[in-house]
Amino acid sequence: MTDLTNLGVKAIRDGVAGGDFTAREVAEAFNAAVAQAAELNAFIVTTPEHALAAADATDAKRAAGEDLGAMGGVPIGMKDLFASHGVQTTAASDILGGFKPEYESTVSQNLWNAGAGMLGKLNLDQFAMGSSNETSAFGNVASPWRKTGSNAAMSPGGSSGGSSAAVASRIAPAATGTDTGGSIRQPAAFTGICGIKPTYGRCSRWGVVAFASSLDQAGPMARSVEDCSIMLGAMAGFDAKDATSLKMDVPDWEAALSADLKGKKVGIPKEYRMEGTDQEILDSWEQGKAWLKDAGAEVVDVSLPHTKYALPAYYIIAPAEASSNLARYDGVRYGLRDLPDGAGLQDMYAETRAAGFGDEVKRRILIGTYVLSAGFYDAYYNQAQKVRALVSRDFENAFAECDLILAPTTPTASFPLGSLNDDPLTMYLNDVFAVPASLAGLPAMSVPASLNADGLPLGLQLVGRPFDEQSVLNAGLAIQQRAGFDHAPKKWW
Ligand code: GLN
Repeated sequence: MTDLTNLGVKAIRDGVAGGDFTAREVAEAFNAAVAQAAELNAFIVTTPEHALAAADATDAKRAAGEDLGAMGGVPIGMKDLFASHGVQTTAASDILGGFKPEYESTVSQNLWNAGAGMLGKLNLDQFAMGSSNETSAFGNVASPWRKTGSNAAMSPGGSSGGSSAAVASRIAPAATGTDTGGSIRQPAAFTGICGIKPTYGRCSRWGVVAFASSLDQAGPMARSVEDCSIMLGAMAGFDAKDATSLKMDVPDWEAALSADLKGKKVGIPKEYRMEGTDQEILDSWEQGKAWLKDAGAEVVDVSLPHTKYALPAYYIIAPAEASSNLARYDGVRYGLRDLPDGAGLQDMYAETRAAGFGDEVKRRILIGTYVLSAGFYDAYYNQAQKVRALVSRDFENAFAECDLILAPTTPTASFPLGSLNDDPLTMYLNDVFAVPASLAGLPAMSVPASLNADGLPLGLQLVGRPFDEQSVLNAGLAIQQRAGFDHAPKKWW
């Protein structure tokens, strides 16, 4: 039999529906791979029994001639930021140690309703804060990729680094991610897979541990554009439980996929040619332009003049919202409670938060409370909100001249774990190309383009108009077909 773990979402769904193999066989193959690749530390908790139960349900439906759903028979990894009913959900933080939600997030429930099963809860940067997967309380995640000729462990990107490592290493055909300022796209680019952050509001945030609520969006990570369009279709949809949920029908993105870009204009933002960007990234961008032209698109220059202010504005707005969102972890309601003998309520708050939050989370809370404090609110928070409006307006103006924007996903390829730990500012720069689309709430995708001279993957980013995921996916497909990226990392099991 073919190695089932090499298959993606579409191949599994169609193979199960067509009777080529059973959903149970698929779940067993991936459960075994997950167990054997434990060295990557991609999962915090594994749930083989969930994957098997969903598979058996799918096989039973097939035997009864019932519809199997868009994800029927596909076992996936779930970023440990989505609440899972009865399964430990931690956001990779000690402060949520042992927390088992009494409810299921809307996005994960949508996936189970569509026939998917859960292999386990994926590791991530603590509270989704980070770009390297080194801030998790459960240890670093290692990318399955290595530089040619080296055995140093590389970063899978962050914060969805468990997701990217699992999908790239083929221990999961797909995984959920969340993207607040790049956390789907940057890890996808680092590991040679696809990932799309849809328009803000497409996927419900209900039951997703909040980082920065005006930016947080869930999305799929998988090895092909087709697989992302199928899975996004299953995840998205209006949800009355999220006040910012989009009240719009979910298009059939899979059915409308087309790599023919005739009549489309692709904008190249000149401000993305930044100092510090590797030459190989610029070369890959040029290659991307050529591929899109070959697919029939017209390539035009556009300007996004406030680009350089987007990252500083993000690192005010996101920590500000985080400091407010994370106030709920106080030792009373969830997880950890540190109550020294004879301590009062304030002591308990302080002890619990000191013990439960990691250093990067504390740094964000401190920045956030500072920029929201009475003396600095106008100078920082209000100013950042104004910049956010200008960044959004830049995109509106650009989209008067083009339908899509093509840019690199990251300024460099992956780096060795540990190499940026003492340098948070360089770490933050990882998201310099990803953050503008997040501030503007736009759909944006990373697609693998090539390997660099060290044998590491590079990604290209496509950004679309609000609600126009279809054009993003279509251009992604055009790149996928031309890039022919079929490189796989070292096998870990
Ligand atoms: N790396 C960015 C940060 O640390 C983005 C994180 C995210 O998108 N969740 O804030």
